[in-house]
Amino acid sequence: MKYSIVVPAYNEKENLPELLSSIKEIMNSFNEKYEVILVDDGSTDGTREWIKASLEKYPFLTYIRFRKNSGKSAALQAGFDHANGEIIITMDADLQDDPAEIPKLLAKLEERYDLVSCWKEKRQDPISKTLPSKIFNATVRWTTKVKLHDMNCGFKVYRREVVKNLKIYGELHRFIPVLAAWNGFSVTEVPVKHHPRKYGRSKFGWERFFKGFFDFLTVLFLTRFKYRPLHLFGGIGLLFSLLGTIILLYLSVLWVGGVRPIGNRPLFFLGILLVIVGIQFFSTGFIADMIVSGWFHTERVFYPLEEIDGIYLKQSGEIPDQESAGKTSGGEVPERGS
Ligand code: UDP
Ligand code: MG
Repeated sequence: MKYSIVVPAYNEKENLPELLSSIKEIMNSFNEKYEVILVDDGSTDGTREWIKASLEKYPFLTYIRFRKNSGKSAALQAGFDHANGEIIITMDADLQDDPAEIPKLLAKLEERYDLVSCWKEKRQDPISKTLPSKIFNATVRWTTKVKLHDMNCGFKVYRREVVKNLKIYGELHRFIPVLAAWNGFSVTEVPVKHHPRKYGRSKFGWERFFKGFFDFLTVLFLTRFKYRPLHLFGGIGLLFSLLGTIILLYLSVLWVGGVRPIGNRPLFFLGILLVIVGIQFFSTGFIADMIVSGWFHTERVFYPLEEIDGIYLKQSGEIPDQESAGKTSGGEVPERGS
C-alpha cells in the first residue's frame, strides 16, 4: 500500500460525497494503491447510515467509528493505528483543504522531508479564528524553534515512521509538527489554497484557547523533560531551597549578633516557606523519575532508532527482527510504535 488518507469527521455528512469523490479523482491519477480511512468521531447526523449505504461505491474506504465523540486527536490516532500506507496523508473532512493540493505536498516530501504541513496562506476563516491562531503559532514557533506558520493545519503528509512514532491524545493534534521535530524528524511546510467551510459548522469554539494553552504546557514539558523530570523539578527545588536557606542563615546571623526577636519577621516565614516548597519540588522530581524509570521496562521505544547495521529503518517504520537486522550489540531490539 502506497498511500493512506486519514480523514477525521464529526458530523460532516454533507461534505463527505464531494470529499470522497475529489479524493478518488486525484488519487486515481497516481496509479498507486491507496486507502481512505474515514474516522467517524461519534457523529450523530447520519454519517454512519450514509457510509453503510455507500461502501460499495468507495471500495478504497475503511470506516472506523467511535461510540462517542472523542476529539480530533483521538480520531487521528485511530487512523494512524490502522494506516497501512508508506505515506500517510491527513485532511479535514469539511472541504476546506483541497485534495488537488496533495501532489504539491507529496513533491515536497520527496525532497527528503519526513513531514510536510500545509500553510493556509490566505485562510478563509473569520477573524475570530485567524487572529488567535496567529498569536498561537507565533508563540509556539518562538518557544519550540519549529519554524512553521501553521502548526495546527489538518492537511499534512507524513512518512509512515513518523505516525508510527507519534502518540496523539487529548488535543495534542495542534502540536504534531513540534512532537515530530522533537523525535528527530525533518518538518517543513508548503503554502496551499484554503476554502471557506461549505456545509456544517466549525467544531472548535472558544474553549479551544484554554485547552490549547494547557496542551502547550504539556508539549513544552514533554519535549524537554519527559525522560528527565528531576532536571526541571530539582532545578526549581534547588533554587527555592537555596534562597530559603540564605534567608534563614541571614536571620540566624542577626540572632547571634543580638537582634531579636526574629520569629515574627515576614522574612522568617518566607525563608521557611521556600525551604519547604523547595523540598516538595525535589520530592515531586524524584517520584516523577521513578515513574519514568518504570517506563523503560514497559514502553519499548525510547530512542530514535534510524539504522541497524546498515539497514535503514526509514520508509517502512517497522524494525526488522534481529536475524534480518544482523547482530546488534546486546539487548532486545525495541519494536517501533508499540
Ligand atoms: N473533528 C473531529 N472531532 C471533533 C472535532 C472535529 O473529528 O471532535 C474533525 C472535523 O469533522 C473536521 C476536522 O476535525 O474534519 C477539523 O474540524 P473543524 O473544521 O471544525 O475545525 P476548524 O477548521 O474550524 O479549525
Ligand atoms: Mg475546518
